[in-house]
Amino acid sequence: MTRVAPAISARALTRTYGSGAHAYAALRGVSLDIDAGERVAIVGRSGSGKSTLMHLLALLDTPDAGSLRIAGDEVGAMRPAQVNALRNRHFGFVFQQFFLNARQSVLDNVQLPLVIGRVRPSERRERAMAALEAVGLAEKHRNRASDLSGGQKQRVVIARALVNDPAIIFADEPTGNLDTQTGERIEDLLFELNRSTGITLVTVTHDLGFAERFDRRIHLRDGEIVDQPTGATGATGAAGASDALVGAEPGSRAA
Ligand code: ADP
Ligand code: MG
Repeated sequence: MTRVAPAISARALTRTYGSGAHAYAALRGVSLDIDAGERVAIVGRSGSGKSTLMHLLALLDTPDAGSLRIAGDEVGAMRPAQVNALRNRHFGFVFQQFFLNARQSVLDNVQLPLVIGRVRPSERRERAMAALEAVGLAEKHRNRASDLSGGQKQRVVIARALVNDPAIIFADEPTGNLDTQTGERIEDLLFELNRSTGITLVTVTHDLGFAERFDRRIHLRDGEIVDQPTGATGATGAAGASDALVGAEPGSRAA
């Protein structure tokens, strides 16, 4: 049986911030595979390297060493323009801080990735409206982003993440700025989108209740993956790296 390349395949990724006496190794050799359509949470206490890892996997940052393949293609062998195109067309981003342009309309915020991707205006509008439909906010398309509630803002962010019909959504603490109930609705929305479109979800969270809803948790401690069964290197999919929420660290916040 031919095997489809994992959506993401990382080997021995390292990332050190600063240099000399101030150097800090935030990631110390991380290897993992994430399959297409999988829902994976990256967990660990604050400072364990979750955002650093996500930024590397999402091509927002470059590792010092190691190999990263996206759908089988080695990122290290690509030109910068290819990396930018891959990120823009195949990834959607959802961050805790929203990163919306407060003065622009909801529609303009959602269209941004299409502007970057040089999609023509009439098609941009159509696709942005479809994405807003998908998150239940089409009727707000003329509103300024600043006029929305936190939950609505995060829906706009998700619409923006979806507008290019990406293969993977990367989310960093997507419910971190929301109250519990609003956060749960955002969680539900992400999982609904995964079910309806098969989109891969890679989400950083230190909310254990949220993390439990994923197929698999990648647990980081001091820049390394922990709680992986021995001999699991190269294992993929739901049967790969195990997760041990039972062994959750002190300091992780319960849902
Ligand atoms: P997490 O997302 O798990 O809280 P991060 O990946 O943000 O952790 O950070 C991991 C470690 O790297 C932390 O000790 C943090 O202080 C450090 N770090 C993160 N970004 C930088 C940076 N730009 N410069 C220096 N140190 C950084
Ligand atoms: Mg972080």
